[in-house]
Amino acid sequence: MTATKKTHRITLIAGDGIGPEVSGAVVKILEAAGAATGVAFDWHPYDAGANAFEKTGEYIPKVLYDSIEKNRVALKGPVTTPVGGGFASINVTLRKKFELFANFRPVKNLPGLKTKYPGLDLVIVRENMEDLYAGLEHEVVPGVVQALKIITEKGSTRIAKFAFDYARKHGRKKIHAIHKANIMKLSDGLFLRCCQTVAKDFPEIAYHEHIVDNTCMQLVMNPYQYDILLTENLYGDILSDLCSAFVGGLGLVPGANLGTECAIFEAVHGSAPDIAGKDMANPTALLQSAVLMLHHIDEPATAERVQAGLEQVYREGKTLTKDVGGTSGTKAFADAVVEAMEAPVAAA
Ligand code: ATP
Repeated sequence: MTATKKTHRITLIAGDGIGPEVSGAVVKILEAAGAATGVAFDWHPYDAGANAFEKTGEYIPKVLYDSIEKNRVALKGPVTTPVGGGFASINVTLRKKFELFANFRPVKNLPGLKTKYPGLDLVIVRENMEDLYAGLEHEVVPGVVQALKIITEKGSTRIAKFAFDYARKHGRKKIHAIHKANIMKLSDGLFLRCCQTVAKDFPEIAYHEHIVDNTCMQLVMNPYQYDILLTENLYGDILSDLCSAFVGGLGLVPGANLGTECAIFEAVHGSAPDIAGKDMANPTALLQSAVLMLHHIDEPATAERVQAGLEQVYREGKTLTKDVGGTSGTKAFADAVVEAMEAPVAAA
């Protein structure tokens, strides 16, 4: 048995809808991987959104803010955002509060899973705090509503720098900035100018610009032409769901919200109320978000163990959830990953 070398304090927001099921599965897998690699987790669980409001009268309780501030790392399940009214998005509020300006979403195939685009490996880098997500909407006169799209030089330069730094560090070759500057000449024009300025400092990385609607078509025709998509907030949100379909759907794609002080790791998908409480949700997206988190907290051996177990389960294809063509439930899938992590890794 390996002696515990380090305990990581992690804020855990289980979320609602399928959140408690997928986060329960992920915690179980991380505990098993941590036990085998000498890493312990001290989970600090909190509610957010409607669940928290019922108990505390606050959508994001102060103790949750304090916990993230102290631990600097959170693993977060999806939290329902009411449509067309109700409280502000918890996800957006947390991203703003902790200045998590970069949303990082790797879109990669898992072994054994048949998809239309085998071997796809692209990354979406999405600005996470500005754009129409600034939440500045008001009624000008009855029947006329205005929503403000905020794009700043600081925010655009910061996210472009993040994308190019990531590309350089990880040997990525190409960045496409995604825009609609033919229509939004000032806002998307500013975003592009900032990307162009940053690109000059990275001559080894090919820099291109694509209009967002064309990008959707190009992605479906030939996603292999892209390496890193660098986007404003709303385009990134939409393209993330589109790209998730290339690798098997929303149940698979992970995400990291990164700032200079704190980081929150969460899946791309929402709370999926249609399948909540049915032991049907695929925890892979949150599990792969947790793998990103393990790298972030500098526990690569634990991260690799989890990833190897996950890939083994997909390679075998016997214990998959319904969204990816299997018949197993969330719990059985988690048990299979734990078992696969304990078994010797089969040759690829
Ligand atoms: P939001 O706007 O909150 O991000 P969304 O519009 O992306 O949410 P989701 O709640 O993610 O919507 O669900 C979209 C569809 O994908 C639903 O049919 C849902 O069941 C399915 N889905 C989402 N996540 C998963 C998952 N982890 N496992 C299986 N199916 C999922």
